[in-house]
Amino acid sequence: MKNVVKSKWMKYGIAAVLVIAVTVGIYIHKKTEPFEVTYVQFTKMLEDGEISEVSLNSGPTMKFKIKGKNVTYRTDNPRVEDLKETLLLHDVHVDETAETVSVLQYILGVTVTFGFGIFIFQSLKRSGSKNGNMGLNDTKVEAQNLTVGFDDIAGNIEAKEQVHDIIDFIKTPEKYNKLGAKMPKGIMLYGPPGTGKTLMAKAIAKEAHVPFFSVSGSDFVQLYVGVGASRVRELFKEAKKHEKAVIFIDEIDAIGKKRSQGAFQGNDEKDQTLNALLTEMSGFKEQDGIVVIAATNRLDTLDDALLRPGRFDRHVEIGYPDVNAREAIIKLYFKNRPIAEEVSSMELAKQTVFFTGAMLENLINEAAIEAANRGDAYINNSHLEVAFYTIIAGKEKKDRSNISEIDRRITAYHEAGHALITKLLAPDNSVTKVTIIPSTKGAGGFSMNIPKDKFYLNKQEMIARIKISLAGRVAEEIILGKDYITTGASNDIEKASQDLRSFMLKYGMDEEIGLINMSVLTGKETFEDEKWIAKSQAYMKQFYEETKAVLLNNEELLKIIAETLLEKETLDEKELASFFE
Ligand code: ADP
Ligand code: ZN
Repeated sequence: MKNVVKSKWMKYGIAAVLVIAVTVGIYIHKKTEPFEVTYVQFTKMLEDGEISEVSLNSGPTMKFKIKGKNVTYRTDNPRVEDLKETLLLHDVHVDETAETVSVLQYILGVTVTFGFGIFIFQSLKRSGSKNGNMGLNDTKVEAQNLTVGFDDIAGNIEAKEQVHDIIDFIKTPEKYNKLGAKMPKGIMLYGPPGTGKTLMAKAIAKEAHVPFFSVSGSDFVQLYVGVGASRVRELFKEAKKHEKAVIFIDEIDAIGKKRSQGAFQGNDEKDQTLNALLTEMSGFKEQDGIVVIAATNRLDTLDDALLRPGRFDRHVEIGYPDVNAREAIIKLYFKNRPIAEEVSSMELAKQTVFFTGAMLENLINEAAIEAANRGDAYINNSHLEVAFYTIIAGKEKKDRSNISEIDRRITAYHEAGHALITKLLAPDNSVTKVTIIPSTKGAGGFSMNIPKDKFYLNKQEMIARIKISLAGRVAEEIILGKDYITTGASNDIEKASQDLRSFMLKYGMDEEIGLINMSVLTGKETFEDEKWIAKSQAYMKQFYEETKAVLLNNEELLKIIAETLLEKETLDEKELASFFE
């Protein structure tokens, strides 16, 4: 109780100090007002070479001085990104440190800052520790010790080639400067999470023998106004102390997303942070040997300003590993682990389509844990199998006794429906496993349906994909009747709807809609016209009926698969194939 009262008084006290400080500050500010000049006049003076010095800041106005006169002028601050560059090109001394202030102003500044600091500190404390780790002393960035080099990256061969000259450049910038070769200041690594972007950035720093500074874009966004921008400046200041360095900004999308068109409420904090980054990047010279590397999952969502020449102008894709890359990654993580003779890295690579490097590492680690749990000396296929399903669907439920017989039946038919339709409509896909063993992630069971390792799906294949999703529900309807269908199909419905949307809005596969990308055209993710919603419903109904016809035609097979599933719980690829002979 006492504490509450105390902090209440403290708050009033701080508020009072703030009000007085600001009032006096404004008063003093008014008194020492410099000569006002329009921005047009300013630019003219700049062109005529009259300006000697400009104090850049992020406020609404900026001060400057004219050659030979010790008078301070003031003009509007246009707050454009390349102002600093323009000034430097006009041989103007740019001062980014604080403006000259009177002692009184200085004291006031300190008081205000201090009061504000306490205020923030208090609110941080009150808001719990959610943002607590974003505290102000967290702004320090240090060079990290590097342990991973190029040898620790398996696969990603093209990406490695694309960054090779960068390493050489950081090491010996003279070699490139002599020939007038301009190296990119920024590299944008893009690709799905877990594919090794961070790994690549670290390896570049390690190979070039320079310190590695790393921040995440998301660290900036929850900060208080202005802090993001100052953190950026601090980061670069630190890095510049080392002459050569790699600066890594993970999740750059957090600050560098496209500004939404026509939106009224821009995110000032984000823009300020982004502008600070761009300014810093144009601030250092190419010759220096500082390289900024950023990572994003999606290149297409980034603000164009980031990708322009002089910024992040080299774009390197770090994509899903193909089968050979997967084998290389598997071999890398098999090294130094006892692996049983029976295990084939190539076989495992084939079974892990769409696994990222991080997932493969995780898989092998889980298998090692499983082996240890069972007290085995070597990691064998059965450990890997358990690990596989742990990774893709959560752990097998140990206690299955509480699952009722009815649930098992529903699951068996539902999964048999998925598997059968996959076999019939997409025979190229491999169904590596069908199971009714529930996972802790909640699915009643699942069929592991791996599409062929290829780039494109044609229209028929797209439709088949949707039908595969619908097949679980169709099987339920056939066996249980229309009124007894279950909630088990919600994920399937979601997936089918997503695919249908892409079918119409992304891939131009609906003839009436035509070759249109709706989000590009309207700025909205989807259309609102009821006509199109009705059309989607009609599509879905048609696909559902067609799937039902196929399953009814093969009802015997459906029953055999489902009943076998009830008996064995899990069917592998071979067992499933045997039904089709
Ligand atoms: P991203 O930054 O793309 O999300 P990370 O670099 O953080 O991915 O990858 C996470 C982890 O996965 C890495 O630390 C590494 O252990 C493993 N990994 C990912 N890709 C590879 C790869 N190509 N070779 C070896 N290990 C990898
Ligand atoms: Zn399903």
